[in-house]
Amino acid sequence: MVTTSIEKGVDWVRVRGDFPILGAVDAQGRRLAFLDSAASSQKPARVIEAVERYYRETNANIHRGVYDLSERATAQYEAARHMAADFVNARSAREIVFVRNTTEGINLVAQTWGRRNVGAGDLIVVTTMDHHSNLVPWQMLAEEKGARLAAVRVTDDGKLDLDHLKELLAQGPRLVVFPHVSNSLGTINPAKEIVRLAHEAGAVTVVDGAQSVPHMPVDVQALDADFVAFSGHKMLGPMGSGVLYGKLELLEGMPPFMGGGGMIRKVSIEGSTWADVPARFEAGTPAVGDAIGLGAAVEYLQGIGMTNVREHERALTGYALERLREVPELTVYGPEDAEERAGVISFTLGDIHAHDVAAILNEENVAVRAGHHCCQPLMERLGVVATTRASLYVYNDEEDVDRLVVGLRRAQAIFAA
Ligand code: PMP
Repeated sequence: MVTTSIEKGVDWVRVRGDFPILGAVDAQGRRLAFLDSAASSQKPARVIEAVERYYRETNANIHRGVYDLSERATAQYEAARHMAADFVNARSAREIVFVRNTTEGINLVAQTWGRRNVGAGDLIVVTTMDHHSNLVPWQMLAEEKGARLAAVRVTDDGKLDLDHLKELLAQGPRLVVFPHVSNSLGTINPAKEIVRLAHEAGAVTVVDGAQSVPHMPVDVQALDADFVAFSGHKMLGPMGSGVLYGKLELLEGMPPFMGGGGMIRKVSIEGSTWADVPARFEAGTPAVGDAIGLGAAVEYLQGIGMTNVREHERALTGYALERLREVPELTVYGPEDAEERAGVISFTLGDIHAHDVAAILNEENVAVRAGHHCCQPLMERLGVVATTRASLYVYNDEEDVDRLVVGLRRAQAIFAA
C-alpha cells in the first residue's frame, strides 16, 4: 500500500464517504471508480447542502434589495468571494471576479485587457499543451488585432521546452499564457519561473489554473501571475461557479466585458460609466447559489488541507504509474516521475481506440474520459488522435486504480480474441 486510509490526520475513507454519488453500487454490487475529475469533480454533501440551504432559506437577488433576504444573500455571496481570495492568497477579495468557469475567465481577459493592450504585430505566446480554452480566445484576439501567435514546444517527456520559451521571450511578447498543470499530460509546469521570465521580458501572464488550483496549494502572490483562471466545478463546487483572479491594478485599468445591470456607476441615454472592480465584470444576475457552493467547497478543501490533497494525489499517481507498467502495450504520456505530475494519466493501449477502451472500462463501472481532451495541437504533437485519461482526486484510492488495471486487461483480452 502506498497510501494508508489515515494519512497525516486525514481519514481518506471518510473523505470518500462525504460524496453521496460514490456511495451507490451497480447491479453487480460494484462501486463506481470515478476517474474523471479533470473534467468535473464530484461534490461532497456539504456543498450540495450549502446550495440547497441557499435556495431554501436565503434565495433573493443581491446587492440592491433593501430587505433582509437580499442582504443575507449579498453577504453570503461576498463571503464566498473572500473565501476564494483566501484560498489562492489574493491580496484582496476585489481581485476575485466570479465567472462561470475557466473558459469565461480567460475570454474576459482576452476581450478586455487583450482588446485594449494587444495591437497589430504584437506577439502572444501560448503553449502546445494548452487546453482549447486557453488557445482559441487568443486566436480570436490575434485575428481581430492582426497580432501574432506562437506556441512553446513540448518535449518528448511531456514538458514545456523552456529553451524555446526563452527564444520566444527574446522577441518581446505582449502576453504569455500557459497551463499551470496540463489536463492531458498531468505535467506540473514551473509556473513561478515562467512568470518570472515572462515579466523580465515585459509580458503580462495568464495562468490557466483549471487543473492546479483544485489539486495543490496555489498562492497567486508567490506565483506573481497577472491573471489566474479556475473552475469551481473541478474543485468540488457547483457547475456554473468559476473565478478569475487578476492583479487589482490591472483589473482597474480594464474596460467591462459585458454590459448590463450591476456593472455600471451611472447610465444616461448618451453613455455610461463603470462600477468599481470586481462588480464591473459581473454584469447581470450572478450565479449566487453556485458561488456560495464554491465557498463551501473551499472550506471543505481547506478542512483537508491542500498540502494533504497534493500528497494524496502524488502518492496515488505514483501507485497508478507503477501498476500501469504491468499492462503490456500500454503507453503513458507525460513525465515519468509522480513528483512532476498531477493526478492526470493519459495513455493509449496498443492500437485499441481510446473510446473502445473507455467503453469497456465503463462496463466495469470505471469512469474515464477518451478523446483529444480539448488539446488537439497536443495530440498532434504526441502523434495520436486520442488518448484515454484517468484522473484522480481526494475520493480516489488504490482500489479505483486496481479496478482500472483489471479493466484494461479485460480490454486487451477482448481485442486479442
Ligand atoms: N483549462 C484546462 C487545463 C482544463 O482542464 C479545462 C477543463 N477541461 C479548461 C481549461 C476549461 O474549463 P471549463 O470547461 O470549466 O471552462
